[in-house]
Amino acid sequence: MATVLLVEDEPAVRLGVRLALEKAGHRVLEATTVGEAWRLLEEAEAVVLDWMLPDEPGTKLLDRMRQGPFPELPVLMLTARAEVRDRVEGLSRGADDYLVKPFATEELLARLEALLRRAGKRKVLKHGPLVLDLERKEASLEGQPLPLTRREFELLAFLAQRPGRVYSREELLEAVWGHDYLGTPRTVDQHVLQLREKLLEDSKAPRFLETVRGMGYRFKTPTRPTEGEG
Ligand code: CA
Repeated sequence: MATVLLVEDEPAVRLGVRLALEKAGHRVLEATTVGEAWRLLEEAEAVVLDWMLPDEPGTKLLDRMRQGPFPELPVLMLTARAEVRDRVEGLSRGADDYLVKPFATEELLARLEALLRRAGKRKVLKHGPLVLDLERKEASLEGQPLPLTRREFELLAFLAQRPGRVYSREELLEAVWGHDYLGTPRTVDQHVLQLREKLLEDSKAPRFLETVRGMGYRFKTPTRPTEGEG
């Protein structure tokens, strides 16, 4: 059972897919444009993405996901265009699978579940040159292993799995150290400082860990939905 983001502007298709997914026990988030979809991605465990959308092609969303904070999120592309050329383009751009409209919802379900199974086994997070192996709890930067302590790894992994979202020091203490831990917000600052040193961060322009004044910290998203054309 997973949270699936369904990005489809045709109401009839959206309804059909939604009902099928819900019947199979999944939670469905709906978006009708690339812009809407971008804002919901953080919550999604898989994406069913239509190619033709009103604001931008679905492949634009895919590009931003793959270059940005969602390199591994499983994506099943839908399209009305059956040309082989488009299939190849969609897959080479980072879609995990592809379905041509009209399709049977059973087939969509079967393919989506195959993607979710594969994704469940793959627990490696990549953000540009930074790679976090969530199972082995190992990090590397530009291919070089990073010697992180357990807490440093967990703090970095927590933020990196939720890019763009700001967490207060108290929230991070609770999430990473647990509520029994007798730490102070200073504990978090100290760990961020150590992490930044190990990540070779430029304090004026951090690549990964950003301080949000008066609020806390966040893992930087390299691309924002409002940027680019339009
Ligand atoms: Ca469409």
